[in-house]
Amino acid sequence: MNDATTSAGRAFPEGAGDGTRAVRAGLPEPVKHEPTLPGPVFAAHFHLPGDPTGPYTYGRDENPTWTLLERAIGELEAPGQDGVEALVFASGMAAVSAVCFSQLRAGDAVVLPDDGYQALPLVRTQLEAYGIEVRTAPTGGDAQLEVLDGAKLLWIETPSNPGLDVCDVRRLANAAHARGARVAVDNTLATPLGQRPLELGADFSVASGTKQLTGHGDVLLGYVTGRDTEAMAAVRRWRKIAGAIPGPMEAWLAHRSIATLQLRVDRQNATALALARALRERPEVTGLRYPGLPDDPAHRTAARQMRRYGCVVSFTLPTRARADRFLDALRLVDDATSFGGVRSTAERRGRWGGDAVPEGFIRFSVGAEDPEDLVADVLRALTASAS
Ligand SMILES: *Cc1c(COP(=O)(O)O)cnc(C)c1O
Repeated sequence: MNDATTSAGRAFPEGAGDGTRAVRAGLPEPVKHEPTLPGPVFAAHFHLPGDPTGPYTYGRDENPTWTLLERAIGELEAPGQDGVEALVFASGMAAVSAVCFSQLRAGDAVVLPDDGYQALPLVRTQLEAYGIEVRTAPTGGDAQLEVLDGAKLLWIETPSNPGLDVCDVRRLANAAHARGARVAVDNTLATPLGQRPLELGADFSVASGTKQLTGHGDVLLGYVTGRDTEAMAAVRRWRKIAGAIPGPMEAWLAHRSIATLQLRVDRQNATALALARALRERPEVTGLRYPGLPDDPAHRTAARQMRRYGCVVSFTLPTRARADRFLDALRLVDDATSFGGVRSTAERRGRWGGDAVPEGFIRFSVGAEDPEDLVADVLRALTASAS
């Protein structure tokens, strides 16, 4: 890896590790008597005498707190790569919508996964209402390859949420580019420390920062990164006209949280693997998925393109009632949606009705608790929920 300079801050030493990068990502050059990470800049407008020139004019277009966060995200998504732009949004869905609605026109075709994030079907309906043809195929088995002909955009979600299937990003990106389509990868579950879609050939890496990137369950955020200047200009324009911008406080909290990203990800993901191993021994557990498990159907592909496998484990209990009793019996795990936070959460995913999952399907997000405590709590709750 080349020496990666932050565009304004100090250069990372060549070969710097993920922890080193995470704690310094996006920091400006130190200034005497100023904090290391400058506080949030609360401004709807900036002093602007004379001709309106940037960078800071109006708060819907740019904000210095976003600038530092965008630099941090760019450094993590594409270390050592020049010309990668990052844009932050009010939420993951704002980022997803910014790519879809800025890149597609009436008459275009787009390929979505049919097992992706539960709000994608809503995006699909809206795209169709605008005269865009939407095709879908499963994530597993690179099935989206079959429906690429004539598409303008391929949307990949790997690992998929909540089924944790994986597809080969490089293979799909090459096939899409050969047909003239752009490629976006939803990188929410992996985080930039788990997977770098732009290096795998994607044109956009898009994510919800609400999940493990910020990791405390207290911020909604999204981002888009990309290398194609023209495509990113359209995404930026969409942000301006939709106004789906993060508040300065949220942007600052996110940047502060990124400093611990490597610590959290390594701890949570190692515990997720330990939990998956423990669950594999339980007869009441079926459909166990974790891409880091060597015998998981997704492991071979995941191992080629991922550096870390995420903090989400999914599995199925025999009945809806059993799943509800299990969730109720957990002491260290909150029954809540979302994932990636330092406090473990789990939910019976079927309660939302949007995903094609069995009634007893559990999406489990592993937090930063001591691994022995968490695994013991889960095994105890499994036993307690038997009757
Ligand atoms: C949560 C999530 C989103 C949406 O993010 P929000 O921040 O909730 O808007 C998009 N994609 C995936 C894979 C997600 O898990």
